[in-house]
Order: sequence, then structure tokens, then C-alpha cells
Amino acid sequence: MKRVLLAIGGFLALVVMTFGAMMGSVFSGLKEMPDGQELPGGAKRVNHGYTSAYLVPIGEKELALIDCADEAEATAIKAELTRRGLGVDAVKAIFITHGHPDHTGGCKQFPGAQVFIGDGEQPLIEGTAASKGPLPGMMGPQKEFALTGARALKDGEEVEVGTLKVRAFVIPGHTAGSAAFLAAGVLYVGDSFTFNSDGSLRKAPWLFSDDGAVNVESIKRLGKLLAPEAADVKAMVPSHSGSVEGLKALVDYAGG
Ligand SMILES: [Zn+2]
Repeated sequence: MKRVLLAIGGFLALVVMTFGAMMGSVFSGLKEMPDGQELPGGAKRVNHGYTSAYLVPIGEKELALIDCADEAEATAIKAELTRRGLGVDAVKAIFITHGHPDHTGGCKQFPGAQVFIGDGEQPLIEGTAASKGPLPGMMGPQKEFALTGARALKDGEEVEVGTLKVRAFVIPGHTAGSAAFLAAGVLYVGDSFTFNSDGSLRKAPWLFSDDGAVNVESIKRLGKLLAPEAADVKAMVPSHSGSVEGLKALVDYAGG
């Protein structure tokens, strides 16, 4: 009996250690993500734990959100609004990079906002399908954070919200309808890639992603597509790492 318990204990310890090592490899060596970071065009990073959301001005006392972070009450985002003397109704639009719950958790706190997503992401956003990534897939469909009425943007489609023009790029791989959004010279990339502390680009972690090969293909296609307008891209901004200036890291990854 004792030997059986020891064997089970040893096996569990191995599972925990392996999981810890896998999670460590996902997040170690990433560029630091300073809370409150100011970005071109007056945008600001708002952190909650290991997730960043972004507030982007779209007019006098009106804002767009890029993702809603991971907490159902959206306390970090609301605190920043309060600091500016604004309420949740100041958020007029939300651009969701993908339907994982650490990006959609707080969205319901902004019921007056029009939600935009990438085409192909509808099932995750509406909570009708589970993510295909090994780890998020285990959580099943995210019914608690499901959103209806989101407008799906096609690859390359541009919309105007207030004074802000936003161009969407559908870059599947991390999820089926993962999107990047180019707004006021800042490219918001969600989880499709992050940056290492040396500024080089790191593809999406397989543990959380639908299809690693499709992710790499999408990153390279985006790099080639945007290379001719590199001068207009002031920064690239992921959700779980620091940002880098310019488009160079993406163009380098795409092979020049
Ligand atoms: Zn994700």
C-alpha cells in the first residue's frame, strides 16, 4: 500500500513539475510589460496580472479598448477610467484580438461599446465552441464570457470609430479568427506573437494555440503585407509581453 501511494505521489509530483516547466518556458525571457505604458497616439497599457488591455482615445473623453483583460469586473480598466474622471460609458468600441477568456473577461462591463472581432472567431466569442489549443481546449466553450452582436471584420477591413481608423488583419493560428489591429500607428497583435527581452519576435506558445504552423504562416504573411508601410508602424504591442518600436522584428521574422 505504502509503495503504491509513493508511486502515485511521485507520478503527481512529476506531472506538477512538468506542467510548471512548460508554463515557465512559455513566459520566461519575455520583454517586460510596464503597467501604464504610454503608446503613440495617446494609447495606454493597463495591466491585470500577466495580461494587458489597451485604452485608445477616439475623441474627446471617448475611448476604444483593445481586449478587456482577464477579470470579470474589469477593475484595472475601470480604475484607469475613474482616474480620468470617466465611466464605463466612455468606452465606445472594443476590438478583441481573440476569444480566450483572459482577453474577453471584462468585456461585459462595457455594455454600450460596439464589439469588433476577426472573421472566424465568432464561435469562441459567442461561446458555442471550445478553443482547439491543448490547454484552453480543456476549459470548454467560454459561456460565462460569451458576447453577442460582435461585428466580424474581414482581413484588411478598415473601420472608423470616432476619430480613430482601425485596420483589422485576420491572422489565424493561435485561434481560428485571431486578429491584429493597426490603430494610430500601433499594431496590436494579441497572443499571435510576443517579444523576447532582446526585442526578437516569438511565435505563439503551442500549449495555448490551435495550430502552430498556421500561426507562423500568418505572422510571415503579415510581415510581408505590412513591410511596404513599415515607416507608418510606430510600435507592435502584444498582450503578454512588452512592445517594440517599429515593424523591424516582424519583417525580420518574415524573412526580410
Ligand atoms: Zn490567447
